[in-house]
Amino acid sequence: MELFDVYSLYPVEPVRGSGSYVYDAAGTEYLDLYGGHAVISIGHAHPHYVRMISEQAARLGFYSNSVENSLQHTLAERLGALSGYDDYRLFLCNSGAEANENALKLASFHTGRAKVLAFGGAFHGRTSGAVEVTDNPAIRSPFNATANVEFVPLNDIGAVERKLAAREFAAVIVEGIQGVAGIRCPEEGFLRALREATERTGTVLILDEIQSGYGRTGRFFAHQWAGIRPDLITTAKGMGNGFPIGGVLIAPQFEARKGMLGTTFGGNHLACAAAIAVADTIAAEGLVENARRVGDRLLERLRTLPALHDVRGRGLMIGFDVEGSASELRRRLVFEQHVFTGGAGAHTVRLLPALGLSEAQADEFVARLKALLEDFH
Ligand SMILES: *Cc1c(COP(=O)(O)O)cnc(C)c1O
Repeated sequence: MELFDVYSLYPVEPVRGSGSYVYDAAGTEYLDLYGGHAVISIGHAHPHYVRMISEQAARLGFYSNSVENSLQHTLAERLGALSGYDDYRLFLCNSGAEANENALKLASFHTGRAKVLAFGGAFHGRTSGAVEVTDNPAIRSPFNATANVEFVPLNDIGAVERKLAAREFAAVIVEGIQGVAGIRCPEEGFLRALREATERTGTVLILDEIQSGYGRTGRFFAHQWAGIRPDLITTAKGMGNGFPIGGVLIAPQFEARKGMLGTTFGGNHLACAAAIAVADTIAAEGLVENARRVGDRLLERLRTLPALHDVRGRGLMIGFDVEGSASELRRRLVFEQHVFTGGAGAHTVRLLPALGLSEAQADEFVARLKALLEDFH
């Protein structure tokens, strides 16, 4: 059987990883500034993570959500402590898109309304509900009726207020920082104004922190820089450091009803063991602070390179533009400088490394990028 051919791939295969590096079968070392798409939070093959998963697999890998699973409570407690949202409740699922789907349903159950407001440039996943609130017609099929979803430009609070005035919207969904759009940060004050507008109109505010969360920006969730508390927060990518797991953090005013949400695999024993290991490591190694410190340094160093435009972001969630083709630059970074980076559109490069990236590794990346830029046009 052949694979259904939907991904554009580099002809390189990492077979082993360690911290911020991956290696191919020939032993070539690649510096990983991409983290497998913001997924690698505590680093590749972290020993504590490997031990926790291995021991759990040997003990009990899976049982369904029809019986007690104390690992879920442990994970919820760790996540409450790390995020500061101890008074919220956690619903566990398997991926980012699924977390958003469940958040949209919760908002609709809670308000009795059907419409959702989303933003230009938004990416919220590829499953049917999540893709409807994603601003990319190329990945939305005819099956996805968009009648319930409207879009307004990011940062346009006036447009948001006009939409919400009639109190017909169940929810507004917004990324802490837009990732797929090329690292677009909400302007100062926008998230606070959005919180006020949603509160005033009884609209649920959903913060999609799937890419921007889990410590990446130097706060546990990116929206915490704005000092707001959303009603629902979705998380996934960095949560399992590669083991598939996602979750919705749910504010106290939401009422749980038996059977209203559910999943077969969500919150299983292996996934919880992986996510607990991630949470423990983030706390023990001070990775949120590291992301802030090393991210600040990386931003500052990148801003000294004249070939880069609009170096932007927060912590270890960084984007910049180049005049030529970003995909050509990234391809040459892989094959000539042995560095993985991410893309976003024709001219943007995205950096989403493991949160434990060291200052020396950040400097090493800047040196390799600089070397390549000397003959890149
Ligand atoms: C990756 C991503 C998703 C989708 O997550 P999946 O695990 O791929 O379903 C949703 N929202 C944002 C902001 C993302 O970056």
